[in-house]
Amino acid sequence: MIKRPEELALMAESGRLLALVFERLDQTNLMGLSTLQIDAMVEDFIVRDLHARPASKGQYGYGFVLNCSINEVVCHGVPSRSRVLQDGDIVNLDITLEKNGYIADSSKTYLIGNVDPAARKLVQVTYEAMWKGIRAVRPGARLGDIGSAIQGHATRNGYSVVREYCGHGIGRQMHEEPQVLHFGKAGTGLVLREGMVFTIEPMLNQGRSDVRTEADGWTVVTRDGALSAQFEHTVAVTASGFSVLTLRPDESDKITGTL
Ligand code: MN
Repeated sequence: MIKRPEELALMAESGRLLALVFERLDQTNLMGLSTLQIDAMVEDFIVRDLHARPASKGQYGYGFVLNCSINEVVCHGVPSRSRVLQDGDIVNLDITLEKNGYIADSSKTYLIGNVDPAARKLVQVTYEAMWKGIRAVRPGARLGDIGSAIQGHATRNGYSVVREYCGHGIGRQMHEEPQVLHFGKAGTGLVLREGMVFTIEPMLNQGRSDVRTEADGWTVVTRDGALSAQFEHTVAVTASGFSVLTLRPDESDKITGTL
């Protein structure tokens, strides 16, 4: 579960490349594109421009490079030719990238056009909740500190936390130990140690936390049909705290600033 310094350097490089993918998406007008077009665009960028591998393609039999989870879709939304992003949608794009044998994993919820204030607030609070979790990371802290920080922020804002899916250790494999729950009790669970690398990726729902999987076997939606949002970063435990390996340039203030 502990990465050596040379492994951490390789993971940081994978994370840096994955951040470039999101920078490219940030510069793209997503409205009017089908989710399959976005998938193809991202694959092209990862393979041709970054000379890396989209790690999700082929993993568990999945055929695409990203998950696109729109509105009431919680996670694992499958790209399709027929689903075009429309004014008012919120869409989480979840992407993994492997370079030199090491995988990085990140996601971001995008606002498409004019999104109503309630949906915007859900997205903002979910982003803040992820950062509350990240800021709990340091050697000697415990996994429950992360979950508690996320759950507390969600609850204070009237949202629920999805319980069926969690963050995970990551490295040569996309999913390694430990499991990182987005709810829990501070002061409980595994003690964090320098060199651990894992994702923090809370899913917050407007309504109840219950989810169900659709007939395609992938797409997970809220049971009550209310909106869900998610953000994800790959985080390393450092000697003094944390390093966000998939940090984007527009987030540099998050390391020193206050939420
Ligand atoms: Mn993940």
